[in-house]
Amino acid sequence: RIGFVRGAFVPLREAVLPVMDRGFLFGDGVYEVTAVIEGRLVDNDHHLQRLNRSLGEIGIANPFSTGKWTEIETEIMRRNELRNGLIYIQVSRGVAERAFQYAEGLEPTVVMFPQFSKVQSNPIIETGARIITVPDLRWARRDIKSTSLLAQVMAKHAVKQAGVKEAWMLDGDIITEGASSTAFIVTRGNELVTRNLSRDILPGITRRTVLEIAKRHGLTIVERPFSKAEVLEASEAFYTSASTIAVPVIEMDGVCVGGGVPGPVFRSLYDAYLQDVMTLPAS
Ligand code: PLP
Repeated sequence: RIGFVRGAFVPLREAVLPVMDRGFLFGDGVYEVTAVIEGRLVDNDHHLQRLNRSLGEIGIANPFSTGKWTEIETEIMRRNELRNGLIYIQVSRGVAERAFQYAEGLEPTVVMFPQFSKVQSNPIIETGARIITVPDLRWARRDIKSTSLLAQVMAKHAVKQAGVKEAWMLDGDIITEGASSTAFIVTRGNELVTRNLSRDILPGITRRTVLEIAKRHGLTIVERPFSKAEVLEASEAFYTSASTIAVPVIEMDGVCVGGGVPGPVFRSLYDAYLQDVMTLPAS
């Protein structure tokens, strides 16, 4: 694989970073993950906008314009013959002697690489996923896509041990979001419910697009927190992320959800999402 590391395209296996990089020492950085489907960068401008916002919130100057970011992403696709998969972008504050306080004007470290996967043909779409809940152990600025991900690493380890697909994180009895996804339910009254944006959750790009599609389909959308009990009573539950598009939930903590099969609202949103993607220009 060819990555883009500190200004150059290099074979990833040969790429190295200074140990004094603040991304390594402090998790002092942010990241983005954009899907590539049939040669199309999905929702890329929104991902780059969120990257810009994350950088701004922690006081790192965005090293590139949207056009330049897109140019590098396109070059990564070209050099790796990436038609389907993901592009990972990480920006750390840069390299400096280890100290919590940072000097202004450090040169941010940019690392980008592709991951090969077929985002749009995950068999779990047909069968549905079993998930667990875990306590949300994260910090109070979850709206920043920070590379400090220890709570999510722990949540995903619990996922692996439980032999399920995802964890939804709990603040008391309230679901915040998935460990790497946005949580949705469809109520018995046929309302599409997902948590409102705030500092408590990441503003998911797929969330945004799915809500736009739902609006177009005339669904009633309610953005508010919802509880674990509501998930168990819901007619459907699913989660969204760039790397999965959307995944239906059929069981949570060993209890059947939504009749134990993927629901029609999920299916129509998923299909519409993929249809929209295929209208994007391919590179
Ligand atoms: N919430 C969290 C905590 C995430 O890590 C992610 C993605 O990794 C999401 C939500 C989904 O965001 P997006 O749709 O932009 O991939």
